[in-house]
Amino acid sequence: MSEEQQDKNARHKKAMQKQKAKVDANIAAASTERGVSILLTGNGKGKSSSAFGMVIRALGYGHKVGVVQFIKGAQLSGEELYLKNHCPDVTLYQMGTGFTWNTQDRTGDIAEAEKTWAVAAELLQDASYDLVVLDELTYMLGYKYLDQDMVLNALKQRPSEQSVVVTGRGGGSALQEIMDTVSEVKDIKHAFKAGIKARKGVDY
Ligand code: ATP
Ligand code: MG
Repeated sequence: MSEEQQDKNARHKKAMQKQKAKVDANIAAASTERGVSILLTGNGKGKSSSAFGMVIRALGYGHKVGVVQFIKGAQLSGEELYLKNHCPDVTLYQMGTGFTWNTQDRTGDIAEAEKTWAVAAELLQDASYDLVVLDELTYMLGYKYLDQDMVLNALKQRPSEQSVVVTGRGGGSALQEIMDTVSEVKDIKHAFKAGIKARKGVDY
């Protein structure tokens, strides 16, 4: 090995030692053990699919999972099919209607949103659920179909060991404030905008 390479390796080792010490200190500092609340928002693709990734993680450990979808697209989705066919233990509830630009019926949408929220509220009080996913919940707040304080209180008062994932664009600063983790998926480009059709198993 050349002297230059030896030097490079030694510097790398030193940098990694420093990095490891930092990571170890951060791990040691995180001493609170409880369920977490996560908001996945932003205009880019990847919010719901990330939430379903966590569903798979939780199921891997035999955790109990509940999923409530606040917007049921006309399109069947792979996650819906998989949960229905292979995960009988996962509670899955979907809002009965399509969404506002399809139904164009505010009163009907509100009634459906409230019915769907009742299911979510029940899961958020049930300590047997380790993970609750509230997919596209933010739109219910954005359109004021659900009372914000009611939703935020239910999220805050959930059992301490329960984790909850909320997805959807927007959601507002009050929601961001109460969540432990907030990630914004940024839209840099999306295939659909280049005229590529939504893809089975990727987009739905
Ligand atoms: P995914 O379910 O793929 O994780 P998402 O939950 O982040 O997406 P939604 O706003 O719920 O995004 O929209 C779901 C559908 O819309 C998916 O088919 C997704 O590919 C598509 N989509 C998401 N973001 C964009 C975008 N910025 N432009 C065009 N289509 C999008
Ligand atoms: Mg989504």
